[in-house]
Amino acid sequence: MLPPRARTVANARSACVPGRTRRTTGVPRAPAVRSGVRAAVRAAGGSRAGGLGTDVAASGAAARLTESADARMTDTPHEVHSIQRLIERLHARHAELDEGEVATYIPELAKADPRAFGIAVASAQGRIFEVGDAQVPFTIQSVSKPLVFGLAVETLGHDAVLAHVDVEPSGDAFNSIQLQPGTNRPFNPLINAGAIAVAGALHARFGDEAFGMTLERLGEAAGRRLELDETVYRSESATGHRNRAIGHLLLNFGRIETDVEAALDLYFRQCSILVTARDLAVIGATLSNMGQNPLTGREVFDIRAVKDMLSIMFTCGMYDYSGQWAYRVGVPAKSGVSGGVMAVVNRQLGIAAWSPRLDARGNSRRGVEVCVGLADELGLHAFDCMNFGSSYLKAVL
Ligand code: GLN
Repeated sequence: MLPPRARTVANARSACVPGRTRRTTGVPRAPAVRSGVRAAVRAAGGSRAGGLGTDVAASGAAARLTESADARMTDTPHEVHSIQRLIERLHARHAELDEGEVATYIPELAKADPRAFGIAVASAQGRIFEVGDAQVPFTIQSVSKPLVFGLAVETLGHDAVLAHVDVEPSGDAFNSIQLQPGTNRPFNPLINAGAIAVAGALHARFGDEAFGMTLERLGEAAGRRLELDETVYRSESATGHRNRAIGHLLLNFGRIETDVEAALDLYFRQCSILVTARDLAVIGATLSNMGQNPLTGREVFDIRAVKDMLSIMFTCGMYDYSGQWAYRVGVPAKSGVSGGVMAVVNRQLGIAAWSPRLDARGNSRRGVEVCVGLADELGLHAFDCMNFGSSYLKAVL
């Protein structure tokens, strides 16, 4: 006989509904999790964040994150929320940092304003804080990769996706032209090779519908309709010789089983979707909220796909900086070459920073520092002393 909490979680899991279909595109959607499941998990984990529950009163924490009953309630002018004050402080501090270079290998990206800088934070309850250029659009680039991987896992199934790509950190640059020795799969879906393999798998299954489906799903996660930046897409497609080389390597080893140009086209398009830092914070909040967008209430990702996405973001999200990131920040994250960084605090927050100057590994220089600052001040690190692991164990031990 299972103890009460284990029973609740087991009931929650068994409530998964197989075979729900997409209403708008007719494209099949993987077994999804009903809101009842999320409610059961919430009830089982307590009202505070479960899993790696974070008590933000932690380690030198300046601010305590509390949610009002109405999560979207605005603060009175006299009472600026502590999180708002914190991101304003981090913005002012790091606006001075002018190290790093704007990416130039995609000609259109070279036109980005190196001074641009925005920060946004969205809670799993839908409360949003932002500062600076948080509503200025830029192309999502590699931040799309975990989301498209999640979509592929949901729609194609684990085995089919993992036949094309592994989930090991590569320790190499994002655009490295190599496959894993022995398996001839890309190391993980968050480097270009892995993302192109995932795009190939989606294209093989859904053909030309794959991009519309991707755009729609990312829009659901952001809580608004997203669009393609045609100019960046064309620029990237016209100059993506290195990605073409990767595509052909994948084709050679049977990791792409569709027209390689079509797979690359899907990849170039997914990278060229326009978002803002605010959008990335909301997408992060959707992941933090078990796949349900906290602003719209829409169930965007299956709860199991969310776990997959966060896991690879934790180990591979910052390319060959992923180890140091885990050491310094300690939450799942993903960066993109246009300067966006999205981080997720499980069951609590989506965090986004955008600043186009990149470090040598292709991560936003200011974006990394903003996340380090937030992790330090709020005690976000997975192994922060105030973080406890399983709320179930907490109850029974
Ligand atoms: N579109 C970019 C590329 O393929 C994505 C890379 C990135 O954001 N790191 O080169």
